[in-house]
Amino acid sequence: SEFILEGKGLTQRYKTDTGCILTACRAVDVRLRKGETLGIVGESGCGKSTLLRILAQLERPAEGQLFFNGTEITFLKGESLRRHRCHIQMVFQDPAASFFPRMKAGEAITEPLRNFRRLSRQETRDKQDELLELVGLPKEYANRYPHSMSGGQRQRLGIARALALDPDILICDEATSALDVSVQRQIIELLADIQRQRGLSIIFVCHDLALVQLMAHRVMIMYLGGVVESLPGDQVWDQACHPYSKALLSSVFATDMDFGKPVNTLEGDVPSPLDLPQGCSFHTRCPSCAEICRHEQPALRRIAAEHQAACHLLLS
Ligand code: SF4
Ligand code: MG
Repeated sequence: SEFILEGKGLTQRYKTDTGCILTACRAVDVRLRKGETLGIVGESGCGKSTLLRILAQLERPAEGQLFFNGTEITFLKGESLRRHRCHIQMVFQDPAASFFPRMKAGEAITEPLRNFRRLSRQETRDKQDELLELVGLPKEYANRYPHSMSGGQRQRLGIARALALDPDILICDEATSALDVSVQRQIIELLADIQRQRGLSIIFVCHDLALVQLMAHRVMIMYLGGVVESLPGDQVWDQACHPYSKALLSSVFATDMDFGKPVNTLEGDVPSPLDLPQGCSFHTRCPSCAEICRHEQPALRRIAAEHQAACHLLLS
């Protein structure tokens, strides 16, 4: 298969305490090539985290299929699921929270090895040095406690730990969102370096479209559990055409730059996933909403090669 990871029609629903059905993820197709970075963007509540949990096999979708190197893995369980999970590792937003407070850095990053590999003390030690070097930290940091380090250093440890089992895929869930802008850039450069060295495939999930397009080969924009647009990262600024993507981009302009002209920023709240709007899921906030948008859901259609969007207005 051309894709290392492929999801087809991934759908997830949860039942709430009150018996309502929450649709967190709606018929999402995902394709990740080897050595590629896929960026997934959307506001909180758009279904990103659910999608990631499905892709990392931490939960099973209600509908849809998942393939790894062309082999279906949707229904793996037991020991084969446990072994499969080593191929896909996650980096989370707050690295401090993911390390045990009484564990020194060296122990924390090599912990997955103790759970999944039988290595000698010396082999573990060598691997520890190699991982620290890979993420640009001095060997001596192995004896420090993560809480005594900076946010950026802790995120380097988070990446080292995620790489301990030599995964094929790294899933970064808002991994830079808690960091200062300059530190964010350093972490992104580090990930790109490691990707070049190891041929790693990365799924980078973030609410900041401007940041995502910096490092992603392809970008997928999600709204209320569905994909509204998907296109190459270097075309985001010029070619993104879905009204929601444009609103995300113009809100970047509105906060980061002053072009001296009014910008189209997003108004209103994201509707509840418990009560999805009829028709286009974005119609309650869309500045271009037309009559058809209120009752007919637009399908994801081809705009150009590698570019798809779901909007009635974009039909030529
Ligand atoms: Fe806006 Fe209609 Fe397009 Fe939805 S389908 S994004 S409401 S113009
Ligand atoms: Mg989330």
